[in-house]
This record gives sequence, structure tokens and C-alpha cells, in this order.
Amino acid sequence: MPDEIIDEGTRAKKMAEALKRGFKMLEDTCPRCGTPLFQKPNGEVVCVYCGIPVILVSSEEEAEEQKVRMRLIGIRDILSSKLEEMLRDFYPKESSITMSASIKEISEALLTIQKIIERLGRKKEEEKRSKH
Ligand SMILES: [Zn+2]
Repeated sequence: MPDEIIDEGTRAKKMAEALKRGFKMLEDTCPRCGTPLFQKPNGEVVCVYCGIPVILVSSEEEAEEQKVRMRLIGIRDILSSKLEEMLRDFYPKESSITMSASIKEISEALLTIQKIIERLGRKKEEEKRSKH
């Protein structure tokens, strides 16, 4: 199962690379591994972790969404610590514009991940409420 052997470090690195290359992070996740999807400048949507193009599907199993949410929380935490690390490591050195851009991009990615997590959580609560 590809989703059982996800290397979080590699995933965070690939996401950071995608951001650096100007890919746009979407509010949808890969159905295989739960990684946020990216849109290339040419419009193609890809999973940077699986390295495959993805066709967006709107319906997902509730359990899957919950799993995805848990993974996203993990990614968010990794990105947060990466960001802290970057800020710590690069501050005393030269104030590189490229580096500032990466920090900005990672911050933006974090915000997007947070939005997805919140959206998935909200959806879950709405479903619960409608059942009672
Ligand atoms: Zn994937």
C-alpha cells in the first residue's frame, strides 16, 4: 500500500520544491497518499509525492477524508518546524531574497493546509449534527 509507507520528510521536501518552481497548491489532496495537489503553470494537476497527474474527483469516503485530515495535520506540523528551522538558520546569514520567498511560500502552504484541515473538520461535524 503506497499510503502506508509515506516518508514525511520526502513529502515536505517535494512540496517545498513544487512551491519553489511556482506550482500552485490546491485545496484538494491526492487520493492515493493524501498529499495536497499542485497545479503546474500549464494547468496540469499533479501529486508531487506520487509523481503522477491527478484528475480531481469530488466524492470521497468519509473515512478517507478523516485519514487525509490526520495526515495533513502531520504535514502541517512538519512544515511548521521546517519553517522555524529556516527562519532560525537563515536569519543570521545573508538576507537572501530567494530564501525569503521560500519562507513566504511555505507560510502560504501552511495556511492552505490549515484551511483544508478546518474544512474537513467542519464537514465531519456537519455530518454528525445532521444525524442527530
Ligand atoms: Zn499522491
